[in-house]
Amino acid sequence: MEYIKENLDLVRENIKKACDRINKDSDDIVLVAVTKTIDEMIVNESLKYDITDIGENKVQEVQRKYDLIEKPVKWHLIGHLQRNKVKYIIDKVDLIHSVDSERLAEEINKKAMGINKVMDILIQLNISKEETKFGLERKELDELILAISKMSNVRVRGLMTMAPYYENPEEARWIFKKMKETFEELSNNDYNNIQMDYLSMGMTNDYIVAIEEGANIVRVGTGIYGARDYSK
Ligand SMILES: *Cc1c(COP(=O)(O)O)cnc(C)c1O
Repeated sequence: MEYIKENLDLVRENIKKACDRINKDSDDIVLVAVTKTIDEMIVNESLKYDITDIGENKVQEVQRKYDLIEKPVKWHLIGHLQRNKVKYIIDKVDLIHSVDSERLAEEINKKAMGINKVMDILIQLNISKEETKFGLERKELDELILAISKMSNVRVRGLMTMAPYYENPEEARWIFKKMKETFEELSNNDYNNIQMDYLSMGMTNDYIVAIEEGANIVRVGTGIYGARDYSK
């Protein structure tokens, strides 16, 4: 698994350099290793290189891998979540990145209440609207925040976005800027359960630009584990 160590070293060096450029401590960046489609044996091997956080985009994959992962890690659900599947992951994941409706937040609240947990979530925004990706538009955000502010077992910890894939990641920079602006706008609010701590943006192709624009969670899969094989 030497290639994983080399890949990780490079990603961490890139994170460090990007942080240096904006005078930020790279310890403040959470690197989520995206393990989707990656065999649990490989994931377990990779954990010896100080991976603390892993991200999966499918509920079934979290369920399947949960007991197979041998070290304590934080679990991030980064993909679209259907309401009828909340019950399968509510006791397993530490942060849900992809909340984009009141009905989903309500279901999370209900299921979290059932196990006496306060579930940390991010609200997923869709800034570019170029591709049909999941996420709310900016103008729908305040209403959702207001609704969630009344929920006892959900805590908003920040925002997430997924930029479209551009060959040149500079093309995504305005999206990350807009996210950061929105993040700042929401930072001063009076709700106890709305805390703007995390800005989750940037994937293998664009995490450097995302960090330069203020991301403090980046979600990197290919850049750590190599190209995914979806045929299996
Ligand atoms: C797959 C995925 C990633 C990681 O993508 P890479 O390009 O492999 O780094 C990040 N975020 C989400 C939501 C994903 O589904």
